[in-house]
Amino acid sequence: MRDYAIFRFGPDGTVASWNAGAERLFGFSAAEAIGKPLDAFFPPEERAQVPSYFIEAATRGRWDGSGWRLRRDGERFRALDTLTAARDSRDSLEGYIYLAHNVSERLEIEQSLRRSEATLAALLESAAQAVIATDESGRITLANARAEEYFGYPRAELLGRSLDMLLPALPPGEAAKRVETVARRKDGSEFPVEVGMSRADTDDNVTAIAIITDITERKRAEQELRRSHDDLRRFAFIAAHDLQEPLRAVTSYTQFLEKRYKGRLDPDADEFIRYIVAGALRMKVLLRDVQAYTTLLTDPSPEQRQMLDLNEVLRLALGGLKEQIAEAHAEVTHEPLPSTLGIGSELALLFQNLIDNAIKYRSAAAPRIHIRARRSGPEWVISVQDNGIGIDPRHVEQIFSIFRRLHGPEFSGSGAGLAICKKIVDRHGGRIWVDSRPGEGSEFYFTLPAEAS
Ligand code: ADP
Repeated sequence: MRDYAIFRFGPDGTVASWNAGAERLFGFSAAEAIGKPLDAFFPPEERAQVPSYFIEAATRGRWDGSGWRLRRDGERFRALDTLTAARDSRDSLEGYIYLAHNVSERLEIEQSLRRSEATLAALLESAAQAVIATDESGRITLANARAEEYFGYPRAELLGRSLDMLLPALPPGEAAKRVETVARRKDGSEFPVEVGMSRADTDDNVTAIAIITDITERKRAEQELRRSHDDLRRFAFIAAHDLQEPLRAVTSYTQFLEKRYKGRLDPDADEFIRYIVAGALRMKVLLRDVQAYTTLLTDPSPEQRQMLDLNEVLRLALGGLKEQIAEAHAEVTHEPLPSTLGIGSELALLFQNLIDNAIKYRSAAAPRIHIRARRSGPEWVISVQDNGIGIDPRHVEQIFSIFRRLHGPEFSGSGAGLAICKKIVDRHGGRIWVDSRPGEGSEFYFTLPAEAS
């Protein structure tokens, strides 16, 4: 009875006894309270009614109230209270027992609970996704407006039914993960969805909550993107391929012209012919590189991948660079390289392009190129280091884009070499980057997944 104020009134309606709970609740000591009328504990606006409470208690045996009551310090609190008539054995009125309980805190909790419930309900109803809760056996216990709209069932038809009616069973243990699947409407039609599952466990109850997003639009856009990407790739490949034929004619006839008429026309004509030959040769390189690049735009098939000894792959690449190495007096050294799963021809081209650049962009010193590999967690980090002219750090990102060059015709090349390297590394599930300073050489790094061995 700690939280209850109990006091007795004499038949004259003033306090006759006062307990500790009453002191705690109303703030008056017993000495202060005894002799006070009941309305001393009621706010002024209610005092006029207090006599009628006594009448009700006397005639009906009991008055029940609820409302604001007043403490000694003037503060108010919400109370539930009763006034009961006390009679002796001959049924004559002895006085009254007043009992009050402070319910302010409970009301506040109830109110904030109601508020958060209302907020949650509003949130659920306005959500862009369908939200469905189920009990332990998978029966639907809650569905929002979007769920009705998505699935075409009125809410009443959803409640109590199994979630299986809308979605195929999701793999267990997928809690909090997003899964793509296909959902079914009332009319039997299907649509792609992304489902996020989570659980709300309380002491006596397990609720699973599915948040469902209709991804029809996204799927359509993805498909559209894939289609236009394929079209573009095919277009670039065919264009690059078909342009080579007329170009061959232009190249061979201008070379023919050069050979036969050099020195027989005027000096301007000789110069013009030289420009045409150089332009045609440059275009040939460009078209070859575009074609090489576009073939890397399709996903590789799993059969293309093999276990490769990278020492062998590097040897193959160096074989294709013999002339450049000899001509530049380059020294290429390497540490033992690992074996890894990959596409041999592509990884050879990757080494070849990087080493070719290391020779091409050399400084005054003879090129020294060193290749090494180190294991870093689940991958190999392989690097090709040179002592060449280096690259301004501002440009280290853009050199991997196709046809981005930092140099003019003083260095041969189309600007596709590093873009091809990046595509190859991407297709092998790795990353490529460079660490370089002008005048201090460059080190190109790429990663390849290390197979668990
Ligand atoms: P290309 O060599 O045909 O110009 P790449 O895509 O191979 O095209 O290289 C892009 C640019 O990156 C080059 O123009 C060059 O400026 C720079 N680059 C590439 N490799 C090196 C290197 N080892 N040292 C210095 N600069 C380099």
